[in-house]
Amino acid sequence: MRKTIIIGTGPAGLTAAIYLARANLNPLVIEGPEPGGQLTTTTEVENFPGFPEGILGPELMDNMRKQAERFGAEFIRGWVTKVDLSKRPFTLTVEGTGELKAESVIVSTGASAKYLGIPGEKENVGRGVSTCATCDGFFYRGKKIIVVGGGDSAMEEANFLTRFASEVVLVHRRNELRASKIMQDRARANEKISWSLNRTPLEVVADETGVKGLKVRNNETGQEELIEAQGVFVAIGHTPNTKFLDGQLETDEAGYLVVKPGSTETSVPGVFACGDVQDTKYRQAISAAGTGCMAALDCERFLEAAEQAAVTSR
Ligand code: NAP
Repeated sequence: MRKTIIIGTGPAGLTAAIYLARANLNPLVIEGPEPGGQLTTTTEVENFPGFPEGILGPELMDNMRKQAERFGAEFIRGWVTKVDLSKRPFTLTVEGTGELKAESVIVSTGASAKYLGIPGEKENVGRGVSTCATCDGFFYRGKKIIVVGGGDSAMEEANFLTRFASEVVLVHRRNELRASKIMQDRARANEKISWSLNRTPLEVVADETGVKGLKVRNNETGQEELIEAQGVFVAIGHTPNTKFLDGQLETDEAGYLVVKPGSTETSVPGVFACGDVQDTKYRQAISAAGTGCMAALDCERFLEAAEQAAVTSR
């Protein structure tokens, strides 16, 4: 049995691991399908304090992991397929490992990329459709690429992809962008980016040789258009990874975990949530790391109080 298990290895989970390992609580950290979390799919991180020249996302995550290991955090790979949070110790079922028991759990499973849900999309993932410019941009050297979305992610992906692509077309369903001004300005100043606004994506058009383009509806004229391209990058936001909890923790309507204001306590005492899985507002690496620290401290206090209560009742 473990004192604590951390599910997820983004900045939140790894920060919690550093704190709990330094508190001698020997945390077990379960690495899911995206080790290191979303930062491993970005390039340069320029706004994480302490790195005046910036740092590569994967390098930052690798450093955090090494830091946690240095103080005794243990890591295993696998999907958590089932949890039983109805009684303590809690039970987690991990694919390839089996059942694990823990007195406390920290959920830091983050959020995953959303898809458009249009024909031709899912079946062409890895064959011209991607949700990760950093992972796949390299394969599009000299090619024309479409980026779908109007938020900061779309601006960032579009800018990044101009390093490889001959041209990037930004397709967004409205005329107004949701992205912050600085990110919009940067994208607008990039000569390789052209804009197809007010277009709703309808279908990824592909044949056996790969993606040929994106069929869209021009919302002004109602006409369908084909924007030709060899790659379609979908950058329309994320969904919180909370399905595996099977409704055992309170969530909001979008599935984000609800925590008590000013803390990381979930609806089940002894289960804490940090990072993007509970954050619909800030969603930054540094804010995720901050809540990871909070979860570790909340967890430590919970374990101390539980131990005290056990001693008193003896
Ligand atoms: P977001 O802000 O939620 O934007 C998602 C975009 O995708 C919106 O423009 C939305 O259109 C569009 N969209 C959603 N569903 C769609 C669908 N089914 N079909 C077509 N378009 C669809 O998500 P995000 O860009 O991933 O950003 C998330 C958070 O991370 C934000 O707080 C952002 O500031 C932050 N972030 C920051 C940075 C940075 O500062 N370096 C980089 C990336 C992300 P509508 O606008 O019409 O709803």
